[in-house]
Amino acid sequence: MNRSRNIRSVLPRELEDLLLRNGHPAYRVRQILHWLYARRVDTWEAMRNLPESVLRILRENYEIRPSCTAAGQAIRAEDESWKWLWQLADGDYVESVLISAHPGRTGEVARRKTLCVSTQVGCAYGCVFCASGLDGFKRNLTADEIVGQVLAAETQLLAPDSENRSERRIQNLVFMGMGEPLANYDNLLPALTILNADWGGGIGARRITISTCGLVPGIRRLVQEPHQFRLAISLHGPTDEIRERIMPVNRRYPLKDLIEACDEYVSGTGRLITLEYILIANVNDDPALIRPLGQIALRLRAKVNLIPYNRVKGLDWRRPPENRQERFVRELEALGVSATLRREKGHDIDAACGQLRRFVKRSAHPVSTNAAP
Ligand code: SF4
Repeated sequence: MNRSRNIRSVLPRELEDLLLRNGHPAYRVRQILHWLYARRVDTWEAMRNLPESVLRILRENYEIRPSCTAAGQAIRAEDESWKWLWQLADGDYVESVLISAHPGRTGEVARRKTLCVSTQVGCAYGCVFCASGLDGFKRNLTADEIVGQVLAAETQLLAPDSENRSERRIQNLVFMGMGEPLANYDNLLPALTILNADWGGGIGARRITISTCGLVPGIRRLVQEPHQFRLAISLHGPTDEIRERIMPVNRRYPLKDLIEACDEYVSGTGRLITLEYILIANVNDDPALIRPLGQIALRLRAKVNLIPYNRVKGLDWRRPPENRQERFVRELEALGVSATLRREKGHDIDAACGQLRRFVKRSAHPVSTNAAP
């Protein structure tokens, strides 16, 4: 079916051009954005202060509809992570995971919430430990499907009786869900612009992290962007040998090229990056790897985020024992590297990206349900 674009993929400049070309004043754009992102309406008729002549132009050029609908209720993990499976207009599925911040030192429960967002249906990069790549790549998400995950999650977080549809419930975004964000750059950037804008999602650029498996051209493009979005590199190995074993992308963009692109990013933007390192037993947890990992981090002035591996059904990889995980943090810190060991979230709800979608696609049964958050 040849659908027209969803209006939540469109940036204000395009709307303004369209309206001006048709003899309407530019201030109508502000009104449209207000209906879309503050009031979050899903019909043209609900945009009550727009004249019929403007609505007709919008109807002729765009669709308005929710981009993602929840397939069942959210699934909750023991650690208060939540996972949604969203169904898209073409019937396929993507996932988002909501991670609540750790309780504060004084025991209070922090209110800050981070949503892990998907950018593609499936993934072409085939990292051997990841569920998202197991069925290959299907398609890029459109900008509205990326934005739609955040809007839909915020709606789900509202109390059922809440009338304030514009209440902002998510403070941080990480693009670490299904897919490689920088492989979908042309839809990712408009989506981030919308999610960051005061008139849109209102989420600060420094609270938005793009995570890449190491697409060097995409990192170089990001250097040119004016926004202050954060960058995380899924490193997972400090040598070409280890990365090639688990991340085929390293054959195309070996470590030397990746580190040079990161150097350019840090010097060109003045922003720091994070190195993500999933600890997998007998793959990349050899203590001999701590020093080369530390050297990369020190060169890039990057923080290292260590993540014990989340089991994926059908794959044999395991996380190392806790004492081995802790040795990585201790010895990285001894080298002068800022390192954290992430207490994993969502281990009991298949939070590793792509698992829930695989389960649903292979099963005739709908998603099992828990109470919504
Ligand atoms: S880890 Fe990321 S880049 Fe690698 S297969 Fe999974 S989704 Fe794709």
